[in-house]
Amino acid sequence: MGKDKVKSPHVLLFPLPLQGPVNCMLKLAELLALNGLQCTFLNTDYIQNCLLKHTHVQSRFDNYPEFRFEAIPDGLPEDHPRTGDKFLDVANGIQEVMKPIFVEMLTSGKLSSKSSSPVSFVIADGFYSFAVDLAKEIGIPLMYFETISPCALWTFFCLPRLIELGEVPFKEEDYDRKVSGVPGTKNFLRGRDLPSFFRISDLNHPIIQFILKEIQEIPRSQGLLLNTSENIDGPIISQISTLCPNIYNIGPLHSLHKSILLSAQKASSHTSSSNSLWEDDKSCMTWLDAQPQKSVIYVSIGSIAVMTVDQLMELWHGIVNSGKRFLWALRPGSIAGKDSKYAIPAELSDATKERGCIVSWVFQEEVLAHPAIGLFLTHSGWNSTLESLVEGVPMICWPYIVDQQVISRFVQEVWKVGIDMKDNCDRILIEKTVREIMEDRKDEFEKSSSVMAKLAGQSVADQGGSSHHNFNRLLKDIRAMSVNT
Ligand code: UDP
Repeated sequence: MGKDKVKSPHVLLFPLPLQGPVNCMLKLAELLALNGLQCTFLNTDYIQNCLLKHTHVQSRFDNYPEFRFEAIPDGLPEDHPRTGDKFLDVANGIQEVMKPIFVEMLTSGKLSSKSSSPVSFVIADGFYSFAVDLAKEIGIPLMYFETISPCALWTFFCLPRLIELGEVPFKEEDYDRKVSGVPGTKNFLRGRDLPSFFRISDLNHPIIQFILKEIQEIPRSQGLLLNTSENIDGPIISQISTLCPNIYNIGPLHSLHKSILLSAQKASSHTSSSNSLWEDDKSCMTWLDAQPQKSVIYVSIGSIAVMTVDQLMELWHGIVNSGKRFLWALRPGSIAGKDSKYAIPAELSDATKERGCIVSWVFQEEVLAHPAIGLFLTHSGWNSTLESLVEGVPMICWPYIVDQQVISRFVQEVWKVGIDMKDNCDRILIEKTVREIMEDRKDEFEKSSSVMAKLAGQSVADQGGSSHHNFNRLLKDIRAMSVNT
């Protein structure tokens, strides 16, 4: 390197080893690399292998000479399902295997033989509470990227207060009681709308302890990145900023990513920007092309949720009985139980042949953007919710875990772009809810969804979009903070 050339910061990005966080962090990494920053993306071997097998990440990122992947073990056997019901195993692997490797990498000053220069900045998932102390110890600035929804993050921050008020833990008979310990939610949050973990009755449970540690450590970092915008989450952002003054709202990130790549003319319709851990089925796009506008229900429970065979049957019957067309991404491993074999009743297989399409995995951003999609039956993961908001697709929410219970309530009560079916999976309710959104209250939902889509779109506009502005501020701050390391 020439004597006078200013060294570009070397950012280490460390996502939680799950589809949603990896997808977000990769998009952020690409935007940083596009702006000339050196980036090292720290994956697990498992995730890295899935990405290499099913996507073009390697060739996409080869366009950025200063970008490299590193991969470390996650401590789990290859055939571990890594699903939501086994999250404690993932968390234990992080503590026992990933954390010591990460500590060694940072303290030794060199990540591996592949890295040429020491790391000067860290962006870690908010779950990695241990990272901030380490970064402070070795004098490297660190920011957290919370890829969960800000509305749920705010309830995390309120957990000590909820405990103090006696609103957590709560019993099943209190699920419908409104909670008062989450300022700014105007009393629309009930017990059942708090994060799934808050249903745990033992406050010493490791997950509760993880959350308490997380909310203690996040404000000690140099900044907090959130996948949202003022237009979507203004009041919640104001609440969080009372605790974390330096927030960068850079969402909806998938949309910001697209917008920046398009202006840099890096996006090509021939190269998918999918970061899928499973093979994207392309045939469903051809099937969608043959369906009328806004006629199809898209069904997916994301990358880690599982359901029982009974729940699968209730969903399937409900959807079929609604008489609508449907595209279902039925992820391998998403049916609980070792022998998840089930008989398919003739009325379901006939109706599916006639007006349905079931595949394993899709490139969801593209599916939701297709004009044939009229409704999304979702588990209310934050990425899925944002992808639906951006495309103006109304939702039926059937939340599963973590932040999804909060998101689904916000979808119904705050953004008013869907109906929350929380804790109910019954064919009659599903059929009725589909009809409510696609027929009885169609105009109302179309209107509210298009209002939200417009607001989300404004956030990422390259002229005056708040997330664009925040991303540029982030770049400037990474450069300024890295100089001093
Ligand atoms: N996704 C996808 N294809 C599918 C199902 C999901 O590409 O068939 C993507 C989806 O676009 C989203 C991510 O997987 O970006 C899921 O993240 P989310 O936060 O919605 O839920 P999680 O999987 O973490 O529960």
